[in-house]
Amino acid sequence: DMPEETRPETIAAGHGIGEDAGFGAVAPPIYLSSTYVFPGFERPGAHEYSRTSNPSRDLLAGALARLEGGAGAVVTASGMAAVDLVLSLLRPGDLVVAPHDCYGGTYRLIAQRAERGHLDLAFVDQADAAALAAALARRPKLVLVETPSNPLMRVSDIGAISARAHAAGAKVVVDNTFLSPALQRPLALGADFVVHSTTKFINGHSDVVGGVVIAADAGDVEELSAWANIAGTTGAPFDAYLTLRGLRTLFPRVERQQANAGAVARFLAGHRAVSAVHYPGLETHPSHALAAQQQRGFGAMLSFELAGGTEAVRRFVEAVGVFTLAESLGGIESLVAHPATMTHARMGPEARRIAGISDSLLRLSVGLEAEADLIADLDRALGAATAAGR
Ligand code: PLP
Repeated sequence: DMPEETRPETIAAGHGIGEDAGFGAVAPPIYLSSTYVFPGFERPGAHEYSRTSNPSRDLLAGALARLEGGAGAVVTASGMAAVDLVLSLLRPGDLVVAPHDCYGGTYRLIAQRAERGHLDLAFVDQADAAALAAALARRPKLVLVETPSNPLMRVSDIGAISARAHAAGAKVVVDNTFLSPALQRPLALGADFVVHSTTKFINGHSDVVGGVVIAADAGDVEELSAWANIAGTTGAPFDAYLTLRGLRTLFPRVERQQANAGAVARFLAGHRAVSAVHYPGLETHPSHALAAQQQRGFGAMLSFELAGGTEAVRRFVEAVGVFTLAESLGGIESLVAHPATMTHARMGPEARRIAGISDSLLRLSVGLEAEADLIADLDRALGAATAAGR
């Protein structure tokens, strides 16, 4: 077994390698069986039934718990199932404080759970200290943090929010999907839970939908595991196998992708057809210093404002060839999304206006392609976008 102090790159590459008790397989085998033999009457083995526990899923959970520095993890069927699993800890009347610019699917989930009376809800601008203090004065049970935020890449101070939330008696859950444990470890900064859409950087190949909750506290892990079993929230073994395969290369992928993203951000910042670039790695970004201190890197996500309105956006997305117009992020391929009509359409125009998501905003997930090809593609598409104004 690896020593406990093993570095994260080694955990990602090596968790579970060479430990197969059956045949000495180096790569951990996949266990698809739904059910397991009882070695004797009233004597269950290590596993009984795959909704409850499964060797392939447990291996992924173990790797992710170690990478995030948690007591344990529950691997779920999607990122949304992971967020909902954390909500299962609440009772009717418990208050959840969430960022007003959180992921659209999370926004919909908590808003609709609130509408059904499952919880109380306050959306706040977490960068606004007075608004956050007012929300914390209402004694919430749970504070949700997404940093950097989607799609404007606003950075929140996980340590400061956690300290204030704990003082108010709340637990803190951080959605770490945008950075992955390679670049940010919220539990070490004071959070109680981390959730991921493992669909994104952790799997990294845009061929699995999945999620995970990691908890700092062993009692919380137990409660989450129990509910995931009761409600059937757990992920499929095949998905866990693929996700663990993707996780092996998390660190080099993210390193290369964020280098590309930095180059793309600098290129866009210097282009006359672009009126603003939102990337924490740029020194002009309002949270550059906080991101530099709280994160191990600036990540592979960014967004920018195109001068010229909706028609320019249409020309741009029709002109790209290396970038693909699609939702999602974190895969090896570069994607462009238009939040107002795609990822954040369901928020509605008023909530988008309050969150600062304009109709000219485009979001990029930067992949592993050659930097020069990415920039040439954007240059071509920006040319096509500006031609619309003539
Ligand atoms: N959280 C964030 C920040 C996301 O971007 C997403 C998906 O886009 C989710 C949660 C939901 O994850 P999934 O699509 O795997 O259910």
